[in-house]
Amino acid sequence: MSEVIAAEGIKALVDGLNFAQKVERSLRLIREAYEEFGDRLVVANSLGKDSCAVWDLAKRVSPRIRGFVVTTRFKPPETVHFMNETVRRYPELAVYRNDSQVPDGLYETDPDRCCDMLKVEPTRRAIEQMGVACWVTGLRCTEGRTRTDFQEVEERDRGLIKLNPILIWHEREVWQYLAIHHVPVNPLYAQGYRSLGCAPCTRIANGPDERAGRWLGTSKCGGECGIHTRPLKLTEGAGI
Ligand code: SF4
Repeated sequence: MSEVIAAEGIKALVDGLNFAQKVERSLRLIREAYEEFGDRLVVANSLGKDSCAVWDLAKRVSPRIRGFVVTTRFKPPETVHFMNETVRRYPELAVYRNDSQVPDGLYETDPDRCCDMLKVEPTRRAIEQMGVACWVTGLRCTEGRTRTDFQEVEERDRGLIKLNPILIWHEREVWQYLAIHHVPVNPLYAQGYRSLGCAPCTRIANGPDERAGRWLGTSKCGGECGIHTRPLKLTEGAGI
């Protein structure tokens, strides 16, 4: 199912399909992947607006679809509360976190390592322990400078398909979907946040880049925690 679409092709889809066509396309992508991978298809739910839309789409394809949430000790209380409510509603969402010791202030001195320990490691563990063959994300190519080079279907780690079913959605279309389908979202959005992460590394920011408030003031500003860029299978066939 991995048909590579050139960057211009992706851009043509972003601007050429209307909202309803994008929703249909996303549902089809998830449905086809679920038919192929069954219970080995698992949604990575970050509890952000994009993940909330993808989770709702996946539940429309099959209520059986499982997911996982990666959380850290640095999540804001609003996010922890929202996570607890979401997991209560969907017990098929497993929660992963890394409780091992990290040096004080690591998020300031070496945010890449901090993200690696607190976000990438539990993601790897979730993928291994849940027997994932296809993981589904809420990544969108319109979200910022670091997200333009992705495909709807990818195989960044050999033997692990990554499905980005709302890759071509605009931010506005995510909110449109959430409003139309009455999907609950993290209350931090009401305060002006556009992209949510750990408390020390997330600020309210304006401007065209949705992720500009992430790691503001560091070399990682507007960047990535690593789950979309680092190898997730460290054993057989890692890093193709
Ligand atoms: S977002 Fe910040 S606090 Fe959270 S894991 Fe990354 S560097 Fe650490």
